[in-house]
Amino acid sequence: MIDGFRNDLIDWFVQEQRDLPWRKDQDPYKVWVSEIMLQQTKVDTVIPYFNSFIEQFPNIESLANAAEDKVLKAWEGLGYYSRARNLQSAVREVHERYGGIVPDNAAEISTLKGVGPYTTGAILSIAYGVPEPAVDGNVMRVLSRVLHIREDIAKPKTRKLFEAVIRDMISQDNPSFFNQGLMELGAIVCTPTSPSCMLCPVQEHCRAFHEGVQRELPIKSKKKSAKQVSLVAGIFKNEQGQYLISRRPSEGLLANLWVFPNFIKMDELGTSKQQLESLMKTEYGLEVEMGDYLCDIRHVFTHLVWDINVYVGTFHGAPSADREDVVLVTEEEMLEYAFPVSHQNMWKEYKKFM
Ligand code: SF4
Repeated sequence: MIDGFRNDLIDWFVQEQRDLPWRKDQDPYKVWVSEIMLQQTKVDTVIPYFNSFIEQFPNIESLANAAEDKVLKAWEGLGYYSRARNLQSAVREVHERYGGIVPDNAAEISTLKGVGPYTTGAILSIAYGVPEPAVDGNVMRVLSRVLHIREDIAKPKTRKLFEAVIRDMISQDNPSFFNQGLMELGAIVCTPTSPSCMLCPVQEHCRAFHEGVQRELPIKSKKKSAKQVSLVAGIFKNEQGQYLISRRPSEGLLANLWVFPNFIKMDELGTSKQQLESLMKTEYGLEVEMGDYLCDIRHVFTHLVWDINVYVGTFHGAPSADREDVVLVTEEEMLEYAFPVSHQNMWKEYKKFM
């Protein structure tokens, strides 16, 4: 069964693989960038980001030497920004410690920042032809069905089980196409809710299909529901046409990205407009004149939901001198700063109405 499965999977991948920019060559740096971008993000979203990122930072050296702000700007809108920071920090390590050559073995590559077991397997198999498993949620779904495995894929130890299974199955001759075939099958045929079994190249080998249980698999326990956080934010402009923006802390969620002033709502039932006005005074030392309510923005992270009431307003004077994380920028200058999606959306709403 394993030989047949392996051959049918690879033959199908050779014929049917999508034409994707990171498949044009096996440059380990490009494979690495693409795999980091593809974590938690759809292929169609990643394609333009990948192309422009590689245009700006075509190799290890250019990314290692780039300013972090430029890298965050290139990542703007892609989300999960720690991926970009970790990638750059790991690329710097490769530049300094390995002479700019991405290591070709698990022992070294897996110590790089942001390179977990999946990325290790993907880079080693695709760029270097090393038979190393690359197990992500897609791959666990496909193999849960093909092999009728009923372990809970939400549990970390289940990944180890699948890695062991793949070590037995992986093609020694073409581990790259075997791993990519599994990923591709999960992406376009063996999809989460409606697997296209009638078109599937490995249907003959699939136990779940033969038992009619493919829709019950994989087994995945539910995550805890996301924490809700209510915020109030403002887009404030002065007479010179400058806007006030601030940099988020260098650690934690959306680290180092730029945002409009925003605060956690102290009182769910109180008026957020008054709260914003008084917090602008205490936090930034600024007198503001509050304008209209602009919109509500909701942003869903993996474990967190932000609900933001957004207002517009004007301010006079300059923020407190000790606030090095605050700048005043014109609309044109703002283009140089990287904002998270929620704040980009605020700006889009603002431009619609102001
Ligand atoms: Fe997935 Fe159906 Fe193919 Fe089995 S036969 S691998 S369930 S698409």
